[in-house]
Amino acid sequence: MKRRSFLDKSGLGLSTLLVAPKVWAEPKTTNSKNKPLVTPYAIATWNVPEAVNLAGTALEKGRNALDAAIEGVSFEESNLKNTTVGKGGAPDREGTVTLDACVMDHLGNCGAVMAVEQITHVASLAKEVMLKTPHVILAGEGARQFALSEGYLPENLLTPESKKAWEAWIEKSNYSPQINVENHDTIGMLCSDQLGNLSGVCTTSGLAYKMKGRVGDSPVIGSGLFVDNEVGAAVATGLGEEVIKTVGSFLIVELMRQGKTPQASCEEAINRILAKHPNKPDFQVCFIAVDTKGQIGAYSIHSGFTYTINKENKTTTQAVESVF
Ligand code: ASP
Repeated sequence: MKRRSFLDKSGLGLSTLLVAPKVWAEPKTTNSKNKPLVTPYAIATWNVPEAVNLAGTALEKGRNALDAAIEGVSFEESNLKNTTVGKGGAPDREGTVTLDACVMDHLGNCGAVMAVEQITHVASLAKEVMLKTPHVILAGEGARQFALSEGYLPENLLTPESKKAWEAWIEKSNYSPQINVENHDTIGMLCSDQLGNLSGVCTTSGLAYKMKGRVGDSPVIGSGLFVDNEVGAAVATGLGEEVIKTVGSFLIVELMRQGKTPQASCEEAINRILAKHPNKPDFQVCFIAVDTKGQIGAYSIHSGFTYTINKENKTTTQAVESVF
């Protein structure tokens, strides 16, 4: 029976449907190859202690890396104070909030949704695309319809605060989308579970006051996120157009494959972007990366970028080195 009709028939109704993402996989505590279990960790862009704590707790319980990451970022997707991810995100220049997300697991499976309206938990939805469709990407109305058919609750994602800010922006900005240092923010999270498997998630409302239909790097596999379980993983935040042009996250993972550390790989990816901009750019791009040894790298164009990590029940936020 379809989930929707089950709900109708059960009398539960959509209003009682939980909008939090579902968790599919059973916790595992043993490695099929009898390898020892390793210390799991969750690392995310920006100062997001609640999100990495949630993911870290899930990992400690034996949850797999992908489900833990989705659970972690779901906190920020519902956090109305976060105006760059999920519900409460800044709208496009026409006043509509559209969300983008992608997921990638240790087997190289991936899913993405782009320019989705009315659905808060787009990272979870991206996993549904990965698992339940023969496709990798669903966009726009198709992604929204798919979400509804899977029992996601449609919501108004534009909060009164975001609406007010957008109205003030229209007054001054004459409808030209801004691409500066301040209005970027995306939650990218990388997790390594007890089996040492890596997975990642990237979720965003994209560029504030973007053109309708604009999609950045965040839901683009290889740009906003890339995971290779044999090498490492990387995730990006910042001006998506620049990340896409250099396929930033894939580049970082490939540099690590060639022997560079995560830090050197992040620096090289930032330098590739800067090579196209001889003058100090007014936009921001930031990367974080991990390798299979648990080494971490992070780098950004401008200062101010941070990442947060949860490992062994400890959560710390680190300032990230930058070019300027
Ligand atoms: N990378 C996102 C995008 O370009 C924005 C951001 O990270 O703030 O859509």
